[in-house]
Amino acid sequence: MARPAVFVITGPSGVGKGTVIRALREKHPGLGLSVSATTRAPREGEVDGEHYHFLTPEEFDRRVAAGEFVEHAAYSGNQYGTLRSELEKNAEQGGVVLEIELQGARQVRASMPEARQIFIAPPTPETLRERLVGRGTDSPEAIERRLQVAEEELAAQGEFEHVVVNDTVERAVAELDEIISAA
Ligand code: 5GP
Repeated sequence: MARPAVFVITGPSGVGKGTVIRALREKHPGLGLSVSATTRAPREGEVDGEHYHFLTPEEFDRRVAAGEFVEHAAYSGNQYGTLRSELEKNAEQGGVVLEIELQGARQVRASMPEARQIFIAPPTPETLRERLVGRGTDSPEAIERRLQVAEEELAAQGEFEHVVVNDTVERAVAELDEIISAA
């Protein structure tokens, strides 16, 4: 199987990874996106197979045991993981983006050292709370849990080959564009 260039994009919840990746893929139509599997419930408007493959915990565990994941991790009470089939699906693309959290990024670093690792950081820590509250998709308890995890993630940004500050989407995308074009 041909292996596309893999770009791991990690960053705390609320940093705007989704927006930045969407804008990046508009500039690079040949850049595929791995659709992750998760046990979290769909948010309003999320479509199975498009935003995530929504699995029951039992199905998720079965697929872990069957070796179907490249990486997987527990995050804020749910399981998330990258299916090998998603990389295969994107084999003919110029590259594929994995939008994953810190533990998953570490697993990919160990198993695919050739993958480029990019951390998206907020301009200030306060912007995360503002964005999570403003987006209105998570309960107050879920937001607090996500902000706790975010502290750990921010502390680990030094592990990443590239750190891109999402101060404005245009600027962050331009920087990502350079990283991807260089790869
Ligand atoms: P959300 O629930 O907001 O969609 O995602 C929560 C966190 O899980 C985010 O940091 C997101 O990047 C991460 N995530 C999404 N898909 C995967 C995956 O396949 N593997 C891992 N390790 N993390 C993921």
